[in-house]
Amino acid sequence: MKIIIVGAGISGCVCAWRLAEAGQDVVLLEKGRGVGGRMATRRMKGARIDHGAQFFTARDPRMVEILRKWESAKYVIPWYDRISGREDLTPRVRFRGVDGMTAPVKGLAKSFCFKKEFFVDSIYFDEEWQINERGGENRRIFADHLVLTLPVPQILELFERSHFELESKIMDQLSTVTYTRCLALLGILDKPSVLSSPGTLTHPIPEIDWISDNQVKGVSEVPACTVHASDEYSKQFWDSSDQERGPFLVEAAEKYLEAKITDWTCHRWGFAKPLVTFGETQYTSAWDRLSLAGDSFGGERIENAAMSGWDAADAILNQM
Ligand SMILES: Cc1cc2nc3c(=O)[nH]c(=O)nc-3n(C[C@H](O)[C@H](O)[C@H](O)COP(=O)(O)OP(=O)(O)OC[C@H]3O[C@@H](n4cnc5c(N)ncnc54)[C@H](O)[C@@H]3O)c2cc1C
Repeated sequence: MKIIIVGAGISGCVCAWRLAEAGQDVVLLEKGRGVGGRMATRRMKGARIDHGAQFFTARDPRMVEILRKWESAKYVIPWYDRISGREDLTPRVRFRGVDGMTAPVKGLAKSFCFKKEFFVDSIYFDEEWQINERGGENRRIFADHLVLTLPVPQILELFERSHFELESKIMDQLSTVTYTRCLALLGILDKPSVLSSPGTLTHPIPEIDWISDNQVKGVSEVPACTVHASDEYSKQFWDSSDQERGPFLVEAAEKYLEAKITDWTCHRWGFAKPLVTFGETQYTSAWDRLSLAGDSFGGERIENAAMSGWDAADAILNQM
């Protein structure tokens, strides 16, 4: 059976990996230049910066199975299990990619066919699925089963562009899914920061959820920080220029890091973390030969998105 998966975040990659292991003919399509989605690592002025998700956990035995594969391939290592002064946070091992958060997803992607820079513009079902690219080479691909792993608001936009709808009960359920936003500031530091291992600060002020030093974290040779603004600050300054929204974050980060930020840029995460999810870990319709997965279904966190992709793969295999 030919299965097309759209979205190369952790949910799409786990789903593709599981289906490929089961002998299915899988192709994964991604609008970006690489895999990872919100598990994103970026190069900037000689630094390596994790600018989306910072770590992952492994509670579910299936996630532990994936973790063991990643550990033996040396893609991931434990990062920390507690932060001094934050006894309120549950002690639990947080893992990071050895070369940044994208590393483990790249490892998974070795097991299936991946087509990058393929923006899925529309989908059409008539005995088989037709998936149409926007721009580029205007490619058109056909499949027996389609899996969408985009955040649900983007799935709904795709449905609208395609004049496609599922049964009204499911459409209603999908329309309840909402996300936070996150403005991320990535900065180069003029010297090592004062943060000690693990190199993180959470919620130092109401406008900031997270500050980390990627050098102390161990992913960057050059001192470089990641700052995640709160949902409220991000929404307030979403459409502002970097010159309007950046300086406040720069100044706050410099104060806590006790280093100057010499160069910086902002990145907007329009769908950062789901506030309201679909209510089931994945959705598969045998009738439409369509599956939906991702953190909109599994819930916030890499682990939950990964398990959603796993559940979608199992649902597809079970209906064969
Ligand atoms: C700032 C931030 C910090 C976070 N911190 C953590 C953390 O520390 N720990 C943790 O566990 N979780 C964290 N999360 C949440 C975690 O990153 C996500 O829950 C998880 O990565 C979601 O994976 P996914 O596969 O569901 O979606 P995504 O990673 O978003 O993947 C969806 C993919 O679909 C692609 N796509 C979209 N539209 C199209 C289209 N039309 N055609 C083709 N491709 C398309 C996108 O480019 C993307 O690659 C954080 C998220 C953010 C934004």
